[in-house]
Amino acid sequence: MIDELFDDIDQVKEPFGATIRPRRDPLILKKSLGQHFLRDRDFARRIALALPPDTLVIEIGPGDGALTQELVTLGHPVVAIEIDADLFPRLKKRFHRDNFTVIPMDVLLIDWRALAAEKGQLQLAGNLPYNIATAMLSRVLGSLHDDKIPPIDTMVFTFQKEVADRLAASPGSRSYGGLTLLTRYFCSVEYLFTIPADRFYPKPKVDGGVVKLKTLIPSERPKVSFQLYRRIVRGCFAQRRKMMRNSIRVVNGLPSDWESLPFDWTRRPEDFSFEEIVALCIELEKLGLQ
Ligand code: SAM
Repeated sequence: MIDELFDDIDQVKEPFGATIRPRRDPLILKKSLGQHFLRDRDFARRIALALPPDTLVIEIGPGDGALTQELVTLGHPVVAIEIDADLFPRLKKRFHRDNFTVIPMDVLLIDWRALAAEKGQLQLAGNLPYNIATAMLSRVLGSLHDDKIPPIDTMVFTFQKEVADRLAASPGSRSYGGLTLLTRYFCSVEYLFTIPADRFYPKPKVDGGVVKLKTLIPSERPKVSFQLYRRIVRGCFAQRRKMMRNSIRVVNGLPSDWESLPFDWTRRPEDFSFEEIVALCIELEKLGLQ
């Protein structure tokens, strides 16, 4: 189907500011890996509580284990994917009594379908390195083919707040757009809470937003192919502030009688709800758009 969902959606830049942790624990933090470690148990606990109980959790980027701790305390077996080999000894030491393993790997290279074939349906969690967060989400969603049981069930992730806002945005808001709608094709999206920047060490420049994404089974998804849906969403939102009548013209192969469809073409794309965009795609497909 698709591997990369948001391949040309603008990425949000990561603000770094990390240096070194206190002298008692001289771990060199790596800016390039987005290493801002959560220093607030309540927030870590709230993320862990948002996952279905008694499930295996794949944690992305455990760092020094703040979220891992809450996951194992709640009884989740945890498989962590961490790229930084310097963190493995302390993670293994800290969680040696728990049901905990590390996959030493770049999360962008994970084959989610193969992992699910091995472990069963997956729950994902993590305070994501902000610089790769949307690329990673894109790959995860791109792995959701038409299987009756999707390889991934629930995901609870901390994104930088601006991205979290875009994922969970409502029509008419500034954050609403391609990222919102492409994600909604595959998942229900719920904004859970904000984590202030000063709850992380070292403090990043922006707050985090925690989002819960629950994958839809294929029969719950829009009744239009993702390829067509994506083309129309991208076309319309390339010029979101124009009237839909003008924005939609950039979609290649538009049937000649599209204006006869019962939509108010004077509204802007950003005011069309997800359901309306889906209805528009279905009607255009009926008119022959491929
Ligand atoms: N979960 C920890 C916490 O909340 O304190 C750490 C979060 S920190 C924002 C991001 C973590 O992701 C770091 O441990 C970093 O080494 C790891 N990471 C960065 N890029 C990665 C990648 N491509 N694949 C796997 N892990 C990565």
